[in-house]
Amino acid sequence: MINYQKIFQEIHEELQGVEREGHVADYIPELAQIDPDHFGVYLTMVDGSEYGLAEGQKRFSIQSIAKVFSFVLAYSRVKSDIWARMDVEPAGTSFNSLVQLEYDKGIPRNPFINAGGIVVCDILISELKDAKSAVLNFVKEISGVTDITFNTKVAQSEKMTGFRNYALVNLMKSFGNIKNEIDQVMDLYFSICSLEMSCQELTKAFLFLANNGVIPYSGKRILSPSRTKRTNAVMQTCGFYDEAGQFTFKVGLPGKSGVGGGIVAIHPEKYAIAVWSPRLNKKGNSHLGMLFLEAFTTKTKSSIF
Ligand code: GLN
Repeated sequence: MINYQKIFQEIHEELQGVEREGHVADYIPELAQIDPDHFGVYLTMVDGSEYGLAEGQKRFSIQSIAKVFSFVLAYSRVKSDIWARMDVEPAGTSFNSLVQLEYDKGIPRNPFINAGGIVVCDILISELKDAKSAVLNFVKEISGVTDITFNTKVAQSEKMTGFRNYALVNLMKSFGNIKNEIDQVMDLYFSICSLEMSCQELTKAFLFLANNGVIPYSGKRILSPSRTKRTNAVMQTCGFYDEAGQFTFKVGLPGKSGVGGGIVAIHPEKYAIAVWSPRLNKKGNSHLGMLFLEAFTTKTKSSIF
């Protein structure tokens, strides 16, 4: 029997000596004010056992991690072919790059870079009556946490400064890959990015992906086994922008990061783990978060590879 709590403590102590590299996501003014020394981690097993350390229950801005929620909602409920609107290939460029998008005629490389997340929002607006409430209710349903909210200040802060995201959506609209009004699409996109959740809540929300598509605590099926496999595959190859290779190499789990400093990863049939440390490396992923998860899968021998 692995003593996960002890392993958490061990890794936490080992990382105390590691240099605090990186910076918080200061291109979003509201996030620039976050104390970079926050740290939390949480593990929830498919069998229901839970382990946490430090600020594992403190909420933070989940940012791009939310792209998994909006994508799964579209993948599970939408009738049209979402793969006609985006691909499943690693981007190899930064999360908000315009270069590849021009070359690919407005079709994002995958649903987990900004361009892909924006197209998913466009699809949800076309297909659902109230897409914003639908995403929020979906996150509440899969996590079992009823008081999760958007942070309107963070969303507003991005609306005022998200020039690159507006460039992405305009470029895609010029190619015909955005069907709705740009302001409506971006309102949904920035709202979704502003969701606040703790590591504990993130592990609960992601656990169905470790359980063949079924929420373990309610028994409700969210995705078919085949779609669950595919979602995990896209997280493995595209969940960390142009660092997906490094994350696979070092950690070896499907997962997703956000510029709020959070990372969630799952091990099929075993667990969901989330870590939060706001200092980001050059690729926009949590520096300490990646180190923590690398040590975790090494010590517990639980990479999927
Ligand atoms: N809201 C952020 C943005 O659009 C999300 C990016 C991220 O977390 N990588 O820039």
